Amino acid sequence: KAKETGKNRIVFYNTPMNAEIIERAIIEKHLRNALDNKEFELHYQPQLDIKSGKISGFEALLRWNNPELGPVSPLKFIGIAEATHMIVPIGEWVLRQSCKFLRDIEKMGFQGLSIAVNISMIQLLNEDFAHMVIDIIEEAGLNPRQVELEITESILMESYEVIAGKLKLLRARGVKIALDDFGKGYSSLNYLKSLPITTLKIDKSFIDTISNGNKDKSLTDLIVKIGRSMDLCVVAEGVETQEQMDYLVKHKCHRIQGYLFSRPVQQSEIVRKLNEQYYNQNTFQEELAL
Ligand code: C2E
Ligand code: MG
Ligand code: MG
Ligand code: MG
Repeated sequence: KAKETGKNRIVFYNTPMNAEIIERAIIEKHLRNALDNKEFELHYQPQLDIKSGKISGFEALLRWNNPELGPVSPLKFIGIAEATHMIVPIGEWVLRQSCKFLRDIEKMGFQGLSIAVNISMIQLLNEDFAHMVIDIIEEAGLNPRQVELEITESILMESYEVIAGKLKLLRARGVKIALDDFGKGYSSLNYLKSLPITTLKIDKSFIDTISNGNKDKSLTDLIVKIGRSMDLCVVAEGVETQEQMDYLVKHKCHRIQGYLFSRPVQQSEIVRKLNEQYYNQNTFQEELAL
């Protein structure tokens, strides 16, 4: 905000609003070259399947490290990437990289795992989104059932028909669709009924309510019940404590994702975890055989 004072001087007020606009402009400038300069990296957060006690798959989470800005949180740059439509090429890179990651893991002998990728509304509205997804999955040589697209409810407010059509096409090819951050924002149970959703991800804010003597936690149980009654896979995200974990196991949530089990980590760390799990399972089976 600029204001003229009596002597024709322009005074700039460093309002928070101003600072935010400047920061966004700086981020946008650096974001333009981030893909070409190979500044992006993916981290993968394992999901634990409660029934088998094993890793069932991963969520890919984008990381940006800019030489000048340092690491920038996706909470800061995804919105800017969406507003400028840079999310279209960035999102395509994320999907291709994620599929390649899973294929690499398979080649090491870890079969039947899945990869979840966050998808922005801007990508979904793009004309050839569905074909792009199918091409990338085929190119990687994956089964479409191993790939899950995570969409958020806010996405669904706009252009509902167009989006529903694309999701149905992808679902018909086997691709899974997760409703991310479920319960936060404009939840509509209608979406669950009319979209080809396969997975429900309970928002972290509900998981946070699970603590001793908190009455609100029954809402989490209710969401699990809704999901299960609709034959959906129910995933809890942001699980940080053993108490939350115990509650979710008791109330029959299918999968757990959160710092308690693992933070999002690099591919090499995922390979280490899978090897460790494989080794433990074999020693366990050998003990049984004795
Ligand atoms: P999200 O899809 O809901 O992802 C979960 C977020 O929770 C991630 O934050 C993850 O690191 C964090 N998280 C996981 N477990 C825990 C926990 O136990 N405690 C806490 N406090 N946090 C936990 P992150 O990586 O900062 O990503 C934030 C959001 O940015 C994501 O939320 C997603 O909406 C968006 N995002 C990230 N990567 C991509 C991407 O490749 N494409 C798009 N379109 N959006 C992305
Ligand atoms: Mg997600
Ligand atoms: Mg998300
Ligand atoms: Mg989420």
